[in-house]
Amino acid sequence: LLNVSDLWKTFGDGDAATQVLKGLDFTMAQGEMSALLGPSGSGKSTLLTILGTLMRPTSGSHTMLGQDLTTASDEDLTEFRNRHIGFVFQFHNLLPDFTALENVIFPTAVREGRETAAARARGRELLVRMGLADRMDFLSTSLSGGQKQRVAVARALMNSPELVLADEPTGNLDRAAANQVMETIDLLNREEGTTFLISTHDDKIAAWCRRQILVGDGQVTG
Ligand code: ATP
Ligand code: MG
Repeated sequence: LLNVSDLWKTFGDGDAATQVLKGLDFTMAQGEMSALLGPSGSGKSTLLTILGTLMRPTSGSHTMLGQDLTTASDEDLTEFRNRHIGFVFQFHNLLPDFTALENVIFPTAVREGRETAAARARGRELLVRMGLADRMDFLSTSLSGGQKQRVAVARALMNSPELVLADEPTGNLDRAAANQVMETIDLLNREEGTTFLISTHDDKIAAWCRRQILVGDGQVTG
C-alpha cells in the first residue's frame, strides 16, 4: 500500500535545527492494522503528518498506491489525500452545533458542494456500525468522549479511504471508552479492509493491533 524510504525531516535550520526523522524506512501492506510506538518526541506525529501528505519530508521517498507523492504538486496531494486517506486525532474536533450524523457527512458535503442521499446513507451506516444508531441525531456536545471519538472514526471512513492515520485516538479516553473505539476500528479493518496506522503510548491499545512499529532516534527500530 505504501512505502517510505530514507525519509528525513528537519525542523528549523542552523544551530536551532532539529532532526526528527533520520533516514526512516518502512512499508505497509493493504489491510494492515498497525500500532506506531515510541517515546514522546520520537517523531510519531511528524511521520503521520508526512504519511497523510499534510507536510512534506525534507528528503526521501514516499509512495502510496503506486503514486510517487514526493514529487506530486500541492493540488495532486490534496486530491490524493481526499480520496485515499482518513484522519483521526486525539481531540475529535467535532462541530459543536451539529449532530453526530451531520458531523460525519459535513466534510464530504463541503467538498462535493452538496449533500447527497448516498452520503447520508453511508454516514448512517457507519454510525450504526460504531454502535451509535440511537445517537445519530444528538448534538455532538451531548455525546460522551468515547461516543465523540467514534463519530470521528466514522467521519474518517466516510470516503472509504484505503489508509486511516490515527494519532493517539484514545489518548483522551478512559479504558472502557478506548476499548470501544478500538473495537470499532477493528471491525472496520476486518469488514472494509481499511488499513490503520495508530500511534499510541498505551500497550493495551497496541495489543489490538496485529503489528507494532517502534520508532526511536528518527528511525524504525523494531
Ligand atoms: P508524542 O508522543 O509526545 O506525541 P511524537 O513522537 O508524536 O511525540 P513529534 O510530535 O513528531 O513527536 O515531535 C518530534 C520532535 O519534532 C519534537 O522534538 C518536536 O519538538 C519536533 N517538532 C515537531 N513539529 C515541529 C515543528 N512544526 N517545528 C519544530 N519542531 C517540531
Ligand atoms: Mg505525537
